Amino acid sequence: SAQDPAALDVATTDAASTRDLARRLAAVLRGGDLLVLDGPLGAGKTTFTQGLGEGLGVRGPVASPTFVIARVHPSLVGGPELVHVDAYRLGGSADLEDLDLDSDLDRAVTVVEWGRDLAERLADSYLLIELRRPDAITGDDPDEPRTLRLVPTGPRWDEAARAALAGAVQIS
Ligand code: ADP
Ligand code: MG
Repeated sequence: SAQDPAALDVATTDAASTRDLARRLAAVLRGGDLLVLDGPLGAGKTTFTQGLGEGLGVRGPVASPTFVIARVHPSLVGGPELVHVDAYRLGGSADLEDLDLDSDLDRAVTVVEWGRDLAERLADSYLLIELRRPDAITGDDPDEPRTLRLVPTGPRWDEAARAALAGAVQIS
């Protein structure tokens, strides 16, 4: 993806701006969308998902779903619900349908932490978001830099959708 011409690079300076970015991105999402968050522990995947939940107007709190694997957040505004999945402990052969979620994934916005393999195997369209922090930074300070690379993949993310995405995440 490093050479993907559709990739969008955004930098944030703190957890609040990562949340804000996700909040703005939520405006271009629709039911059936799949987002894949890739990055090491502490990169900001759950923080990003919190902003997404705010932008979508779903019932919170959004927290790490590590121990429950998946959590469904219903919409408070008549929009798509947020399905938040932690795929870390799902086997390599797992399928989202196996989770037996009380949710229709064709109508929800689904976010999968650690779901890169899953998405590449199962979905023809998804938005990959690679979160990285500089090597020197290892702490949990809420004010640290992160880089986010957004890689829109598949027919859902045609030229018009990519343009809308770029507009939404542009920092002005
Ligand atoms: P992950 O889900 O990827 O393991 P979390 O979102 O749970 O990561 O944790 C990220 C931690 O890093 C939080 O403690 C958050 O406050 C902190 N942090 C510092 N700077 C940032 C930033 N720019 N973006 C996101 N989180 C940040
Ligand atoms: Mg997490």
